[in-house]
Amino acid sequence: MNIKVLDTTLRDGEQTPGVSLTASEKFRIANQLDEIGIDYIEAGSAITSNGERESIKEITKQGFNAQILSFSRPLTVDIDYCLDCDVDAVNLVVPTSDLHIQDKLKTTRDELLKLSNNAIDYCKDHGLIVELSAEDASRSDVDFLKRVYADAIDHNVDRICVCDTVGILTPDNSYELFSKLNDLPVPIACHCHNDFGLAVANTLSALKGGVSEIHTTINGIGERAGNTSFEECVVSIDRLLPQFDTNIKINEIYDISKLVARLTGVYIQPNKAIVGENAFSHESGIHSDGIIKNSATYESITPELVGRKRKFVIGKHMGTKGLNNKLKELGMNVDEDQLHQICDNIKVLADKGKTVTDVDLQVIANNVLEVNHEDRISLDEVTIVSGNKVMPTASVKITVDGEQILNAGVGLGPVDAAINAIKSLDVFNDIDLIEYHVDAITGGTDAFIDVIIKLQKEDKVVSARGTEPDIINASVKAYIAGVNRLLRD
Ligand code: MN
Repeated sequence: MNIKVLDTTLRDGEQTPGVSLTASEKFRIANQLDEIGIDYIEAGSAITSNGERESIKEITKQGFNAQILSFSRPLTVDIDYCLDCDVDAVNLVVPTSDLHIQDKLKTTRDELLKLSNNAIDYCKDHGLIVELSAEDASRSDVDFLKRVYADAIDHNVDRICVCDTVGILTPDNSYELFSKLNDLPVPIACHCHNDFGLAVANTLSALKGGVSEIHTTINGIGERAGNTSFEECVVSIDRLLPQFDTNIKINEIYDISKLVARLTGVYIQPNKAIVGENAFSHESGIHSDGIIKNSATYESITPELVGRKRKFVIGKHMGTKGLNNKLKELGMNVDEDQLHQICDNIKVLADKGKTVTDVDLQVIANNVLEVNHEDRISLDEVTIVSGNKVMPTASVKITVDGEQILNAGVGLGPVDAAINAIKSLDVFNDIDLIEYHVDAITGGTDAFIDVIIKLQKEDKVVSARGTEPDIINASVKAYIAGVNRLLRD
């Protein structure tokens, strides 16, 4: 059975605390929603503001494949604004719980029915498609809910929707509620909220209960804990519920998820299903080994299915097979011995509580790979005197072509002093430092300092790197590594 998807990222999603989208941002999202195969796009709520109406008009103008809806209360003032925006359809939202009828609207069930029926008539008279959403339906008296829907059907409503407005359904209750309504002669939709983290589960149960349309938002954004997450729900339908399908191009899911995260500023938790940073990342040696042999061992779906790539994360749980894979990704070929050395060095770093990044791995691997080269210069000792009242002074002991040399230098800062002490020696003639760049690899003052330099001798330019907890050692190491490389080739 084919399931229709109504996406409400631009209406319920925009009601996420702190989120407000410009017209051009809304347009970009709508464009992607249409491209990925969403059937119905709820573009906003026309009554809200001039700006909101402008952005809805911009969307309705495009002639998208998707049907474009606006949210509307059952009031002619709202419906007129929807007509002004030239939408195809309205999501007519009518509260049906006594709590909402009495405490929010201060009215009665009978008055509410009149309001609902009149609004449907007004919409139909003006050529609008109507989806009637019963707000707080999950806390409404089921007999009254059925009455609202039966009246709506008498007034030629096109579709009806059951809203779990405060997210209190469970998968069992959801199935039960929808089973009581599935004899209605119009399509039934469900609109779930994630207050107990059950929105996707309840939506999937609703499908089994007979709904043929689901409401979702990209990344599950929405009021409070959000709405049913589009990507989790659609991929679950595709992979776990073979009796249903949707019109969604699943391999474009990651792109739209990233777009919405970027434009709304609501970032995705790393362990979120399907689109989270870690959803297809592997660190453990046992898992990586299994994945390399057959990805089905530790992945229920392939990352490519949703437009992503698998990642092997560097860390202390990593085995040599995963590490070797990662090194190949970075364009480095190592032998068995070097691989084990690199692996041991990573574990030393990780045991110190460091996050090991790709850059760290490159540095560690380079250090191991370059050990066998005959270097002409090596550093034996560096001593620095520095402070707020002294001229930074460095003394160095280095070995050049087997001969130990002692030298000293001053500079503007301790790094400058150390480099000056080294480069005043003859062997460094004609070598220019043309670039010097420092990064703290991790956050704190105990961070590893990553120094990248570029050196030039005549026409030749080389880069070198030094990574140490100490900025002076890192700089000196990078400098000497660079000079060795220049002299070597
Ligand atoms: Mn909602």
